[in-house]
Amino acid sequence: MGENKTILVVEDEEDILALLHFNLLKVGYQVECASDGEEGLQKIKENQPDLLLLDLMLPGIGGLDICRQLRAKEQTAKLPIIMLTARGEEADVVKGLELGADDYMTKPFSIKILLARIQTVLRRNRDVDNFDQNEVIVFGELQIHLGRNIVKVSGDIVELTYTEFRVLVALAHRPGWVLTRYQIVNAVRGEDYAVTDRAVDVQIAGLRKKLGGCGAYIETVRGVGYRFRETL
Ligand code: CA
Repeated sequence: MGENKTILVVEDEEDILALLHFNLLKVGYQVECASDGEEGLQKIKENQPDLLLLDLMLPGIGGLDICRQLRAKEQTAKLPIIMLTARGEEADVVKGLELGADDYMTKPFSIKILLARIQTVLRRNRDVDNFDQNEVIVFGELQIHLGRNIVKVSGDIVELTYTEFRVLVALAHRPGWVLTRYQIVNAVRGEDYAVTDRAVDVQIAGLRKKLGGCGAYIETVRGVGYRFRETL
């Protein structure tokens, strides 16, 4: 599974660090560890990992600051980051995703699920925005014709509003990614469109209803946002 990839774990809780180190090594990853943010940043500078597992609550430089710093530098702008968070840190998760983290896991987490997420994130093409206008996105019975603004469920055209279509495309482009409401709004209208969280929820509710059985592809991630499921 490891395929010679290096994972850096930045985590101040020794037990969790040891657990991750052991399990990641076991499946064949190279593993580097750091127990605070400064050490983590130093290690990334010396030898850039393929993926970063980043605890958010760290002594000294916090996880969100690390995300911000990494995304601001060209060499690390696309370094895959999975945040490790405690329950109740949804507001920080939202911030982290908006700063460009790829995903998150809430502690305590299952190692099996974490390993699956790591593989998904390592597989991802971060240049998904350069898509082809003629592309048709297909998930089971759902077809999205990008250039033609047409959505079909089981071969039948579904009438969506322009905004609903854009919301669906934003989500379906990144299957498996959690998008915050703010990120969805940005994808739809660009930065200056002021819209409330509630408005995104209304769009999603409308979409789900119109998509019928395929509405289940849009999953609610409590306190954080929405995710397009890869399979039903
Ligand atoms: Ca911590």
